[in-house]
Amino acid sequence: MPVLPSSEFDLIEQYFCGGNTRKDVLLGIGDDAALLTVPAGKALAVSVDTLVAGVHFFDDAPPASIGHKALAVNLSDMAAMGAEPAWFTLAITLPENDDAWLRPFCTGMFSLAEQYNITLVGGDTTRGPLCLSIQMSGFCTKPLRRDKAKPGQLIMVSGTLGDAAAAVAAIKKNQQPDDTMRQKLLYPEPQIKLGLALVNYADAAIDISDGLVADLGHILEASQCGATLYRHQLPLSSELLALHSPEQWHYALAGGDDYQLCFTLDPEHAPALKSVASTLGVQLTVIGVIDGEPGLRVLDEDGCELSQTSGGYDHFG
Ligand code: ADP
Ligand code: MG
Repeated sequence: MPVLPSSEFDLIEQYFCGGNTRKDVLLGIGDDAALLTVPAGKALAVSVDTLVAGVHFFDDAPPASIGHKALAVNLSDMAAMGAEPAWFTLAITLPENDDAWLRPFCTGMFSLAEQYNITLVGGDTTRGPLCLSIQMSGFCTKPLRRDKAKPGQLIMVSGTLGDAAAAVAAIKKNQQPDDTMRQKLLYPEPQIKLGLALVNYADAAIDISDGLVADLGHILEASQCGATLYRHQLPLSSELLALHSPEQWHYALAGGDDYQLCFTLDPEHAPALKSVASTLGVQLTVIGVIDGEPGLRVLDEDGCELSQTSGGYDHFG
C-alpha cells in the first residue's frame, strides 16, 4: 500500500491527534490499537460507512462538508439503532498532503464530533484517490432493530424528505440548488437525540440514506410484513414545494441522502412520542401503516395505488 511520504506521521499528529475528553478512552491515537471501556450492561453498537469522491460527494464539495458528512452518516446509523455514539476511527486515503483541504475537512469533522461528545481514537492514513471510511462505536441499552415492525403499527418519519435529492438533481443539471436544500445535502444533521428518545416508544427503525422506499423496504423484509404509504402525507419542505417540480414525490420516495429516521410504533405511543419530539424541535409525521400483506403499496390522495416506485441508490444495481 503506498502511503504518504515521510510526512505520514506528522500529518496524523498535526491533523488527527485532537484532545480526548472521554474517560472511557484508556488509550487513543498512537499505539497499534485503541483501548476502550464499554459501560457494564450495555451492548456495543458498531457501524462503518465509506464516502468515495464522485460517488458520495461531488469532487468540488467543500472539504468542511465532506468532514461533516463522513461523520454525520455514521452518527445517523447510531441514531437508527437508538445508540449513544462514543468513539470513531477514520481510514482516509488522500491524493496529497494538502493543508488547504485537510484543515477545513478537520474543522467540519471535529466540530460535529464535539457537538456529540465523541472522540477519534485511531485510524489509517494512505495515499491514493480521495476516499474515507469512518467506523463508529456507541452504546445500546434497547436497540431499534429492523426486524421488529408489526402489522397495525404506524410508520413515521422525522424532518422532511427529498431535499437532498432535489439539490443533487439541480447540481447535475448545472443549476444552482436552493440554499437550504444544498445545506441539507452538504451538512446533514444526524437524529441522535430522536434515536435515543425512540427506544421508549418505537420498535423498528432505519435511517433514510438510500431513499424511503428502499430503506423502508429493508424493515419490511426483515420484519416479514408489508406496508401502505400515503403519498400526500409525506413531509415535503416549503423549499421543495416551492420548486413545483413534477419530480417532488419521486425525490421524497426514492431520493437518498436525507438521513432522517423512519420507524414504526404502536399507535397508542404516538401522542407521547410527538410531545417528546416537539421538545427536541424535531418534526414527526405519520406516513403510513404496517400491514400483514407482503410488499409496499403507495396510495395517492384518492386512495389509488401508484405503480411501483423505483428503489433507492444501489451501488451494484
Ligand atoms: P500501524 O502501523 O500500527 O497500523 P499507523 O502507522 O497506521 O499504525 O498509525 C499510527 C497511529 O495513528 C495509530 O494509533 C493509528 O490508529 C493512528 N492513525 C493513523 N491514521 C489516522 C487517522 N487518519 N485518524 C486517526 N488516527 C490515525
Ligand atoms: Mg501496528
